[in-house]
Amino acid sequence: MRLSDTPLITADTIRKRTAELAKRISRDYAGKELLVIIVLKGGAFFGADLIRRLDLEVTVDFLRAKSYGKTRSTGAVDFLLLPDQPITDRHVLVVEDILDTGLTAQAILAHLAAAGPASVAVCALLDKPARRQTPIKGDYVAITIDNHFVVGYGLDCEERMRHLPDIWIAEEK
Ligand code: 5GP
Ligand code: MG
Repeated sequence: MRLSDTPLITADTIRKRTAELAKRISRDYAGKELLVIIVLKGGAFFGADLIRRLDLEVTVDFLRAKSYGKTRSTGAVDFLLLPDQPITDRHVLVVEDILDTGLTAQAILAHLAAAGPASVAVCALLDKPARRQTPIKGDYVAITIDNHFVVGYGLDCEERMRHLPDIWIAEEK
């Protein structure tokens, strides 16, 4: 595995797009309280930067999902950690690192919907629409990318490289 010679997305671009998205979210939820559920581990970095720019009453919680068999269309998802905040009648924003097949987001939305939230929206740092296997659409997407495997700013390659400030394309060697 080697990284592209230059970043696909720089930390500076991430910062700008995150600020724009935070403005939009703050406008859309003006006057409401927002329960932000950050999807671990990859969403932790973007989520932490995003929520600090929200001009809203915010409660933060976390969720961790493990998805199996991306090649199968069943896309079974296990929840390793669930939010402890009540969901019922709350405005919920799910924050993910990336929407790829959409199977993880779909399973998370189904799980949350069962608890009767006032509303649920999905926010993602990255979107790879070319890979989608579900009708899931990100309500708030910072950056749409082509079909590359990327690492950095939360995104890992076998748990490494999450800490990189920029986002890079990882290429098979
Ligand atoms: P989905 O269920 O949408 O197919 O996948 C979402 C998860 O797959 C992400 O949260 C992430 O962990 C992983 N993933 C999808 N695309 C990439 C990518 O390009 N790079 C990395 N590092 N992880 C990815
Ligand atoms: Mg991963």
